[in-house]
Amino acid sequence: MSDNYQKTTEEQNQRQFRDRPPRRIDVSIVIPLYNEEQSLMPLSLSIRDALDRMNATYEVIFVDDGSTDNSVRVLREIHRKNRRYKFISFRRNYGKSAALSVGFQHAVGRIIVTMDADLQDDPNEIPRLIEKLESGYDLVNGWKKKRHDPISKTIPSKLFNYTTSVMTGIKLRDFNSGLKAYKREVVQDIKVYGEMHRFLPVFAHWAGYRVAEIPVVHHPRKFGRTKFGLNRFWHGFLDLLTVIFTTRYSKRPLHFFGIIGLFSFLLGFVIDLELTIEWLMGKTAISNRPLFTVGILFIIVGVQFVSIGLLGEMITRTNAKEEYVIKEKVFN
Ligand code: UDP
Ligand code: MG
Repeated sequence: MSDNYQKTTEEQNQRQFRDRPPRRIDVSIVIPLYNEEQSLMPLSLSIRDALDRMNATYEVIFVDDGSTDNSVRVLREIHRKNRRYKFISFRRNYGKSAALSVGFQHAVGRIIVTMDADLQDDPNEIPRLIEKLESGYDLVNGWKKKRHDPISKTIPSKLFNYTTSVMTGIKLRDFNSGLKAYKREVVQDIKVYGEMHRFLPVFAHWAGYRVAEIPVVHHPRKFGRTKFGLNRFWHGFLDLLTVIFTTRYSKRPLHFFGIIGLFSFLLGFVIDLELTIEWLMGKTAISNRPLFTVGILFIIVGVQFVSIGLLGEMITRTNAKEEYVIKEKVFN
């Protein structure tokens, strides 16, 4: 019986989702938050001031990522005063990507804006972001040109942004910015999971969306403290590897591993060939050349990499699913 019950509520949910009028609201502002009780009230006031000047209909969706302070109480209070401010509350802390993902699922706006809840992002920038978006882009990123964060954060962050930009070929200066505006299709097509929120512009670019960036003002944190320590940068770099691998090479893993493997194999082969020639010419015995072992190492590593690539190809073949983003379909 409980199975049946679950099924019907699921169906109801889906129906609700389908029946929802898609263009009722111009802008949905999605705000992930984790223990930001002091910032929420001033934030919602300044959002109201900024958006009322714009003459657009909007909703604000706070996603409480399992806060353990009074954030939810404040959100309830904000909602009571103004129904435009909605909130979703997680039972536990799942991370910023999860919060964004759920926010995206519930947003009904034609344009989706994301921002941090800690008053570091300025709502007054929202109209400019939207203006840029309307001028022909699908995602506009807010670049914290003058950043107000401790140096322990800004320097690794520069390195991260530079590496990401070089490795992905996307000319952005601030991938991790919380302030971004999206056309609705972008957030519907792209999945946010793990800690992948940092790479949303990369996925969007890869899916063929037009991505732009404008400088935005950034404020120092007034209340509470940052939720991301230094370990974010290790995670960030590992995630970068995943991103490059899953965007560029997921359909052709041998091209990734094979290049490394072939290079390593050839290097080892050439080294050992040279030693063998010297031995044959009677110069020295191979047994007292440490380089010989190095050559063998390169050869073995090379074979390993190529094999991993081939295994990857087999896995890709068996799990092949088409993930192509369709822009338009004229089909009758
Ligand atoms: N945040 C979240 N879940 C988390 C960590 C952070 O929703 O597990 C929110 C946080 O409340 C803030 C935003 O993500 O609104 C950015 O976090 P933070 O200000 O700590 O990052 P920083 O500005 O230091 O990069
Ligand atoms: Mg912050």
